[in-house]
Amino acid sequence: MAQRNYGRTRVLVTGGAGFLGSHLIDRLLERGNEVLCVDNLFTGDKSNIDHLAGHPRFEFMRHDVTFPLFVEVDAIYNLACPASPVHYQHDPVQTTKTSVIGAINMLGLAKRLRVPIFQASTSEVYGDPSVHPQPESYWGNVNPIGIRSCYDEGKRCAETLFFDYHRQNKVDVKVARIFNTYGPRMHPSDGRVVSNFIVQALRGEDITMYGDGSQTRSFCYVDDLIAGFLAFMDAGSELHGPINIGNPVEFTIRELAEQVLAKIGGPSKLVQQPLPQDDPLQRKPDISQARDTLGWEPKVPLTEGLDRTIAYFRKVVAEG
Ligand code: NAD
Ligand code: UDP
Repeated sequence: MAQRNYGRTRVLVTGGAGFLGSHLIDRLLERGNEVLCVDNLFTGDKSNIDHLAGHPRFEFMRHDVTFPLFVEVDAIYNLACPASPVHYQHDPVQTTKTSVIGAINMLGLAKRLRVPIFQASTSEVYGDPSVHPQPESYWGNVNPIGIRSCYDEGKRCAETLFFDYHRQNKVDVKVARIFNTYGPRMHPSDGRVVSNFIVQALRGEDITMYGDGSQTRSFCYVDDLIAGFLAFMDAGSELHGPINIGNPVEFTIRELAEQVLAKIGGPSKLVQQPLPQDDPLQRKPDISQARDTLGWEPKVPLTEGLDRTIAYFRKVVAEG
């Protein structure tokens, strides 16, 4: 397969001040790219990109992707969208607009410039899956009118747009379905399970396990995920996905809580709270396609990734 060389080219990253976007930008700059980071700072934070201020190949633009954007770039990574249930349910209409209108605007830009465009899609397109683990061929089991639907259906519609722009306008699209990812720079109060449990344990607060903790997730360390993004974008223009990118090792939420407690210690106790509506019972990616076509698979085991993430949150909590 023809590999692309993106060295020295100018790359747009929408959502670049967020958790994943800021790590992606670090890797792109290390590879020699110029980076234009576009973000409206809804859930992202300037502190995630503060270390890049003054970098000669880095530029930040405050902009909402639901409005058209006129810039000149050689490749686009579209990550702009709140990702945690707490954040995306805060203003559900804006969440759908960001996914759908944001996709139309970024695809329009890719079409005009004739450049490849990566979409940060999600395992949420599978909803509460009845097929386990989830291969890309599974069409999903999604509630269209529930409290998660603004995100799930927004991302599903974005996928539709990506593949229609590909069929209709020959846009070179790269749709990645991202499974639960964790690591430094997660927002400490975005309500996602890894950050919640770690921050609660570091503060000596109760660990809030929703339901009986038997629901499962498969957690990917951020460095592994970003390596997958780059491998996908570097792959030849015949590869469009959708492709699952995540770690296939599955844990129950109770097991995660117990690991975090064992690592941090302290007075925290595990307490049960009601399971949120439509919370998927199980989730685990089938990553055979990524292994076979990209030669990619995650390398960082949960215990090691948790140690690195705990070290990060220790500083965040200590700084108040
Ligand atoms: P995040 O909330 O940290 O980052 C999202 C970024 O998008 C933030 O900086 C936010 O300010 C920005 N943003 C939101 N709406 C915007 C708008 N209208 N215009 C411009 N910028 C906007 O979340 P993240 O975990 O870094 O997720 C990044 C992407 O990956 C999202 O598209 C998300 O759906 C997808 N994803 C993430 C995960 C995960 O586990 N982290 C899993 C599946 C999919
Ligand atoms: N969860 C939990 N306690 C928390 C936060 C989340 O038990 O304090 C559970 C949540 O109900 C879900 C799982 O952890 O079953 C993953 O939640 P998260 O919000 O991280 O991601 P998603 O549900 O989108 O996979």
